[in-house]
Amino acid sequence: MPKLRVKLARRDEIAAATWAFTLGLDGQAFSFKPGQTIDLTYPNMPTEDPAGNRRTFSIASKPGLDHLQIATRVRGSGFKQSILQADLGTTLELDGPYGSFTLPNKPSSVVLLTGGIGVTPFRSMALDAAARSLEHALLMIHSNRTPEEAPFLEELQRLASEFRRFTYRPTMTQADRSKRPWNGDRRRVDRDYLSEVIPSQRDGSLYYAAGPERFVGAVVQILKAMGIDEDQIRFEEFPGY
Ligand SMILES: Cc1cc2nc3c(=O)[nH]c(=O)nc-3n(C[C@H](O)[C@H](O)[C@H](O)COP(=O)(O)OP(=O)(O)OC[C@H]3O[C@@H](n4cnc5c(N)ncnc54)[C@H](O)[C@@H]3O)c2cc1C
Repeated sequence: MPKLRVKLARRDEIAAATWAFTLGLDGQAFSFKPGQTIDLTYPNMPTEDPAGNRRTFSIASKPGLDHLQIATRVRGSGFKQSILQADLGTTLELDGPYGSFTLPNKPSSVVLLTGGIGVTPFRSMALDAAARSLEHALLMIHSNRTPEEAPFLEELQRLASEFRRFTYRPTMTQADRSKRPWNGDRRRVDRDYLSEVIPSQRDGSLYYAAGPERFVGAVVQILKAMGIDEDQIRFEEFPGY
């Protein structure tokens, strides 16, 4: 698959040490489904990185725009330091889209379970569902330690208030450490919590989990222990977290 050359068009801090990067397509066609990923390469990267100059990211924006957005926690790697410091207008290379972690075409009831930065594929799904008025019923459970660390929190709260088939349930497991008031859930995503918040009518529902490997592994175990059939569970793990 030929690589697309894209330009770093914007960089926004969307949560503590968490950045969204907007990649301008400059009129080039790039079609994808929400939930798919890209591989992003930084040619001639200025900072060394033993893991190289390429990373996989879920596309966080909805299809049909003149740009793509990815989002990531910026920590120590040379790759992340380099894109954080890159001048706007820097050329990056992208290939994809990859993956089949996408919603079914048939209107379905889907529970989206995520922790922290794992929200990226689900943000794309929710924005797209609202833009196209999809009939799917989406319930997103998003676990973070504090509101400050929760990527896209206000945007998803707003989206849920505007599009009634999207329900957003953020939970802040260390809200007492936050400087912001928090009146929502504070529970950990464990079996008791999921038994309460997931609709009891489960026939035909689908369960998607995305994010850090530890979070996804634990959630999948809980879903199975709750008696949910493996065929109804899909997951995407982000290594490196
Ligand atoms: C299908 C798929 C989809 C993905 N989608 C995304 C996505 O949408 N967004 C995304 O961010 N990643 C995504 N990833 C993961 C991404 O490709 C990187 O592996 C990940 O972001 C880690 O990046 P990094 O190697 O540059 O390390 P960095 O994040 O820079 O971390 C550097 C090192 O610090 C260590 N470290 C661990 N915890 C901390 C901490 N609290 N503070 C500082 N350092 C720490 C890490 O182990 C790592 O070795 C996806 C991966 C896959 C396979």
